[in-house]
Formats: sequence, C-alpha cells, structure tokens
Amino acid sequence: MKLLLVFVLLLNYLQAEQVWLVKFPYKHNYLSRIEKIFPLIDLIEYDYYQSSYIFLIPRNYASNFTHFIHQSKGSYRIIVDNTKDLLKKSRQQSKRSIASDNPLDKTYYQRFLSYDEQQDWSRLLSNSSLTNKSIRLHTIGQTYENRSLTVIEIHSKSHPRYRKGRRRKNAVFIDGGMHAREWLSIGVANYVIVQFLKLKGKDPKVKKILHYFDVFILSMMNPDGYEYSRNENRLWRKNRAPTIVSDYWSIDASCFGVDLNRNFPFQWNNTFGASPFPCSHSFSGLKPLSENEVQSVVNFLRNKTYTRHQFYAYFNLHAYGRFWLLPWTYTTLERVKNYDDLLKRSNNVASTVLNGTYKVGQASSVLYSCSGTSIDFAATLMPHAMTLELSPMYRGLPLCYDGNLRKDQNCTIGFMSGPEEIEIDGIEVFNAIVEYLYSIIQDNFV
Ligand SMILES: [Zn+2]
Repeated sequence: MKLLLVFVLLLNYLQAEQVWLVKFPYKHNYLSRIEKIFPLIDLIEYDYYQSSYIFLIPRNYASNFTHFIHQSKGSYRIIVDNTKDLLKKSRQQSKRSIASDNPLDKTYYQRFLSYDEQQDWSRLLSNSSLTNKSIRLHTIGQTYENRSLTVIEIHSKSHPRYRKGRRRKNAVFIDGGMHAREWLSIGVANYVIVQFLKLKGKDPKVKKILHYFDVFILSMMNPDGYEYSRNENRLWRKNRAPTIVSDYWSIDASCFGVDLNRNFPFQWNNTFGASPFPCSHSFSGLKPLSENEVQSVVNFLRNKTYTRHQFYAYFNLHAYGRFWLLPWTYTTLERVKNYDDLLKRSNNVASTVLNGTYKVGQASSVLYSCSGTSIDFAATLMPHAMTLELSPMYRGLPLCYDGNLRKDQNCTIGFMSGPEEIEIDGIEVFNAIVEYLYSIIQDNFV
C-alpha cells in the first residue's frame, strides 16, 4: 500500500509541468530541433527578434532540457514551478454569480462562464422575448464526455432580393474555445453574440450584414477541455478523449486529449507542428476527423442539415499574440487562390479598426506551419477563412500570474487574461468582423 502511494506521488511529480522562459544567443530557429528531442514540450510564446521562448515542459524533461540549453549557450528561468498553482488565481476570478433574466445583461459577458452557465445562457437567449425572434439554437454534436456543442444562430429579415427566393442567404461561422486554456476566445465569442443582438436594429452596417448573412457562433468548441482547464489544469489545450498507447516514451499506459486544431481532414499530419505522440499537447489524433468536436463542426459546415446555407466566411478565435492569420497553415510554399484579396481586406481592417496592432499574414509564415487546422479545411469550402489570435501581444516576457496584472510591466499575462479583457478585446473583434463582412458585401453583393 505504502509502495503504491509512493508510486502515485512519483508519477504526479514526474507528470507535473513547469513554465520556462528560455533565451538563446542567436536569432535562429531552434524549434524543429527541440520538437524532435523533446516531443512533449509545448511552445507557448516566442519572440524571434529577442530570441526568447516560453515553453510548457513536463518536469521529467528538466535535466535534459537544461543540458540542451547550456549546450546551445542559452539561459533559462523557471517562471511557474508547478502549473497546478495557476488554478488558485482562476478560481478567485470566477466566483461572482449571475442572476439576470435579461440575456444581454453585462453579467453574461463580464466573466468566464462555466459550461453549464453557457448552456443556461443559450437557452435564455432562445426563450427570452428580448432575443428569441433573432435566435435559433443548433446542437451540432456531443463531446466525448457527453457535453453538447451548441451553435447560436443569429438571423434577421433577408434582403428583398433574397426573399424573392432567387438566392439563398449566405452564412458566417465564428468559433471560440477550440483550445481549452484560451478562455478569452470564449468570452469574446459571447460578446460578439451580444453585440450583434444589441445592434441589429440600430447600427446600419450590422443591419446590412444580417440582411445578407446569417451568423452562426459556437463559443465553446471544446467544452470538455475547457472544464478540465477550469478545474484541473489551467494550461490544458486539447479535448479529453483518451488514446491508449504502449510506447516506451510514455510514463503511463494512456494519454488524454487530441489537439482539435490538428485533427481537421485537410493535409492532416503532413508537417511538423502536429504531433503523432498522444501525450503531446499538439497530438493530431490517430486519424483525421477522429474527434467528435471536429466531426461535428465539419458536418455542420459541409452539410445543409442545420442551415441550408452556403458558408461564406469563417472567423476562428484563439488566444493569444494579436495575430490575424490567413490560410494556408500547412505550408509556406503555396497560397490560397484569393490570398491577395484576403490580405488586402485583412490589412485594411487591421489598420482602420485595430490600429495596426495585429500582425497580418499567412499563418505558416507569421507563426509556424502546422497541419490539420480548421482554417485550412474551411478554405477548401469557402472563400474567407481566418484565425484571430486575441490579446495579449507576444512580448518575449515571462508569464505573470499573480499580483496586479495590469500594473506589472515586466511580464505578460498570456492565457491568464482576466475577465476584464473580454469587453476590451470583444469590442475590437466585433468591429473587425463587422468591417470585414461589410467590405465583402460592398464588393460582392450590392
Ligand atoms: Zn489556440
């Protein structure tokens, strides 16, 4: 019995993860080598110009990784000794409760809702007399842990040209929370829902957009992973479906979770950046479309079961770094057919709405290549697909996770953005989406 306890404690110790800030002396891409030697390492942030990296690493890598850094003449600092400590802070910030019967009340978007609260809010939106005429709910699938994937559809009267039945309305898809730890993307997706509903009768641009498009929003694409991130491991990224493995490199007999943004059925597992190791944070799954969440979204976009609409644009929300990323993700050598058009529109929105604070470009060049992503898949179905990495910006600084985050200039909050950031980023992202869609309408539909 005692031996078992020691074993469990040891396992816990070895499986614990740490966050390291690493600096190398040269502007050189160390990533592919690191990925090869340390397949379970997770890159959180990097700054090419400062040659600094933030990694999430399993504790049992510590001595070999230290050795690698010294060999490369680099230096490092451990920022978070045990990532389990990060939860204490998140718990504090999610205590307030909500009790408004107005679904557009700020209490619904000024905090990070749990999955149950999100479902309650969705039902309130579809039942309340304030919003029910503009809302339809679609359950597009179930997760491994049996949570519903609920898409909120926002619609209004069609443009007269559509009403005559000659043309069908087009559709826009927005998703958030694909990666469990990126809470801000869920909050911002919810804020976008609220803004569309508040402004649909008032703002001429929003009104026009809803004349031409129905908007479908899945704020929580990975609810199993998100709940795990809220309750067990704040920096969890994947979903929670288990994969049984028996390889020598694995500490235990199985690992949980697939990186949903590596599991889409286009150019699947075709480049580094998507891992074949089930214990890796970017595990691609054993085959494309193996995950319920991905299957559900792919069916939803491909088939006309829920919508009878043609999908025309897709905004995929992540955090963080402040990047506006265009397909392709899987290669730097090719471009999507309409790349110039996408780039021009995106640059335009970035400079007029986002004050030039987002870096715009092809995902594989601006960040890194990886395969099986949702925007690459979406780009095979529709002309406009893009990923928005929300705040904060990459600054090559350590993560800070306690104290007054806004005042501390010497660290970055990364995934730990507080709920006060939802509205700040939400306004920007909503305006950016509106400008982008409005520009499409002006050029293609009017
Ligand atoms: Zn992400």
